[in-house]
Amino acid sequence: MAIPYNKLRVRIDLDAIRHNYRLLNARSGNAFAVIKADAYGHGLIPVARALAEEGARTFVVGTVGEGVQLRESGCRGRIISLLGPLDPEDYEALLPHRIIPFVGNWEQLTRLQDAVEASSAATPEQPLEISLKFDTGMARLGFHLPDVPRLLSVLAREPRIRPVMASSHLATADEPGNWAFVQEQAEIFQAVLDALRQGGVDVEGNIANTAGILAHSALHHQGQRAGIGLYGCNPFAGTEQEALGHDLRPAMEVSAPVVEVHPLAAGQSVSYGCTWHAPRDSVVAIVAAGYADAYSRSQSNHGGVCLHGRRVPVVGRVCMQLTAVDVTELADAGKSVQVGDRAYLLGGRAPGRVTPEELAGWWGTITYEVFCLLGLNPKEYR
Ligand SMILES: *Cc1c(COP(=O)(O)O)cnc(C)c1O
Repeated sequence: MAIPYNKLRVRIDLDAIRHNYRLLNARSGNAFAVIKADAYGHGLIPVARALAEEGARTFVVGTVGEGVQLRESGCRGRIISLLGPLDPEDYEALLPHRIIPFVGNWEQLTRLQDAVEASSAATPEQPLEISLKFDTGMARLGFHLPDVPRLLSVLAREPRIRPVMASSHLATADEPGNWAFVQEQAEIFQAVLDALRQGGVDVEGNIANTAGILAHSALHHQGQRAGIGLYGCNPFAGTEQEALGHDLRPAMEVSAPVVEVHPLAAGQSVSYGCTWHAPRDSVVAIVAAGYADAYSRSQSNHGGVCLHGRRVPVVGRVCMQLTAVDVTELADAGKSVQVGDRAYLLGGRAPGRVTPEELAGWWGTITYEVFCLLGLNPKEYR
């Protein structure tokens, strides 16, 4: 699955992920570990193992297939699939691998009924457990509050399917200016939980993501789905609520080797399109990383990397597998950059360390996307 043809190295600090889990779980009580999309690029199996050792019991993946992979790795915890069953093989995999799917529409529910009928594995004593997914404002997936009576009657007739959870997802929990919408979603979700429980269906509620854990303790219910915080990003970075997540520690560091260092006379340009000209006699280092390694081309003439603990700017266009950085100031300070030195695209030593938030800013995106993309490169674990 990793990009196989490059020189980038992604180092994952599992201790940081464990630290972040302890912190989020202590704040909320029953944090589920969201490890969808290869644990946001940090590696599904190694992250799940580290968190299981740390006491995590519930793991949240995206596709049912990811859940199967996790179960086959020896995971004994509860595994939840956010996307739920989509293809025939997904429906077949749920029971043997004991995966709890999010179920958010009638079609899925009907096909699950067919699946338990076709299999002898589900019985009223050992039912297929599901999480009922509700749309309370995100408007992507899920049943709605008025669906509850019909859900109750369908489920009452099918003892081999047991709803053990009700779930919903918040659209604006990380936006302090938009907490009225969180409140609206919270009220609808509470009404859903009340209606289910009055109908005799005793579900664990979960709606909080990382931002919900940190900022909205009234929304913790019986479980919380912790994602980005596990990987060390503060969802409130840059907002007036920044202090809520200040003690989270980033876990991903990405470096690539310097493959060439050479002088550039004042006025000379570097890379495609001649978009950068040396303002004075300069020294550039060429780093073996580019957009084929998911290092965004939007960083052309933008942002920088960390070399020897210093920040050095990216100059000229980012190429497919090479990027130029201006190391003149390092050279002026008497630090010679050598072929083989590692340039940190993410992380590195202070004061030049590149934070996930900075990188996301340079790319015009969010830290989630930075991790998912850079995490496609080969990884090593610490
Ligand atoms: C990804 C995801 C989460 C985790 O959200 P974070 O903001 O990363 O904490 C929780 N719930 C659902 C449904 C998700 O898709």
